Amino acid sequence: MRPGSPSVEGRPVAEARQFNVVIIGAGIAGASLALALSGAGLSIALVEAQALGNRALPEGCGLGDFDPRVSALTPRSRDILQQLGAWDAIAAYRHCAYHHMTVWDAEGTGQIEFDRSEVGATELGYIVENRAIVHALLARIAEAPDIAVMSPVTLQSCTRLASSRMSLALDTGQQLQADLLVAADGALSRVRQMMGFRSREWDYGHRAIVATVEVERAHEETAWQRFLPSGPLALLPLLGAAGHHYCSIVWSLQEDLVDAVLALDDEAFCAELQRASEARLGAVRASSKRFAHPLRQRHAVDYVQPGVALVADAAHTIHPLAGQGINLGLQDVAVLAEEVVAGSRNGVAAGQLALLRRYQRRRKGENLMMMSAMDGFKRLFEQQSLPVRWLRNVGMRRIDGMLPLKQQLMRRAMGLG
Ligand SMILES: Cc1cc2nc3c(=O)[nH]c(=O)nc-3n(C[C@H](O)[C@H](O)[C@H](O)COP(=O)(O)OP(=O)(O)OC[C@H]3O[C@@H](n4cnc5c(N)ncnc54)[C@H](O)[C@@H]3O)c2cc1C
Repeated sequence: MRPGSPSVEGRPVAEARQFNVVIIGAGIAGASLALALSGAGLSIALVEAQALGNRALPEGCGLGDFDPRVSALTPRSRDILQQLGAWDAIAAYRHCAYHHMTVWDAEGTGQIEFDRSEVGATELGYIVENRAIVHALLARIAEAPDIAVMSPVTLQSCTRLASSRMSLALDTGQQLQADLLVAADGALSRVRQMMGFRSREWDYGHRAIVATVEVERAHEETAWQRFLPSGPLALLPLLGAAGHHYCSIVWSLQEDLVDAVLALDDEAFCAELQRASEARLGAVRASSKRFAHPLRQRHAVDYVQPGVALVADAAHTIHPLAGQGINLGLQDVAVLAEEVVAGSRNGVAAGQLALLRRYQRRRKGENLMMMSAMDGFKRLFEQQSLPVRWLRNVGMRRIDGMLPLKQQLMRRAMGLG
């Protein structure tokens, strides 16, 4: 033991490593935030429970080679990832830009078409495998001398010291201290729970089945979404291989239907999916392994406390029907990083409440608006009463013919509004 080292009854106590910012969770949000803060003279730790290692991405382009978790990224999210230096690697691996979106109602003739030409854009968005995004971010992080990556390491506890700095205990026995602790630890955030953040939440009564499927016809760079009374079904375009057309599906189903659909053998599952998609892409020929994700709406009442900030799914989870979750999360990351870096230039500690409140003010309203809109859509399309169905279908056809309104909807969904 070094002279002067802290001790309890003669036993050495680990000295706490000091950081400006400690981020818990190296998913898309946490890894993006670490990079966004890098280079500003701050010391950053990124703590991740799973082993990150140097896992290579699959080279093959077969059904089982795709990550069943994909994200529809907006052009705004692409720009954020580009600024972080990660987009080129994502694009060079594989992604599928979509130029068109077709949304239709299973209960009638209502249909809306969105096309890139209507907003003068080159793309409406990009379907990207989640693990490809994280892989590209981690590759950049490996080159950043101011980011200490700790994995596989789990946060065990966190407390606020009298100095307002945050003190953290890790499962390795290590202690960390930081001006700012960021919860990027996902929907079931331990930081949110440990620090006593309140949240408003309710169950959508849905689970989402995700899988990669092979379909008969080319997807035409179109994201297809059909609203059924049992929940929305999305067929998202993936890069194909010679003679093979692939889509990633997000099939939200009422809780009581999910287990039965998951239990179907491959042939019966494909037949059911083909029926549910009205065979818009022809026969569903094959499916990868299926996974189901419970869907809950959750929104933290506050995103910040002195020395603590919640970002992305730790702050809000939203129904995936319009693919907005991580798009909102990346905007949280961009705004929080902007405030922290600006504060640091002016000598303001990263955990100062006034600084963190600016982040909350800039993000909470927009997140809430998007969450309310998604909730409204879900409820509207669940309605089966004849007058509501009629109005819904008439409404969809009307909107389809109203270009200025469609342009507004598209720009907002693309993160440009
Ligand atoms: C079916 C489905 C489809 C979706 N589709 C889209 C889409 O098309 N577009 C879109 O924008 N969004 C979509 N989303 C939402 C999107 O997937 C999430 O918003 C996003 O993954 C959240 O990222 P995150 O980094 O906040 O959290 P996560 O990805 O959950 O990452 C959290 C990380 O924290 C780590 N961690 C947790 N606890 C600890 C701890 N105590 N110590 C250390 N590490 C810890 C975890 O291991 C994990 O790596 C979809 C969601 C679902 C369920």
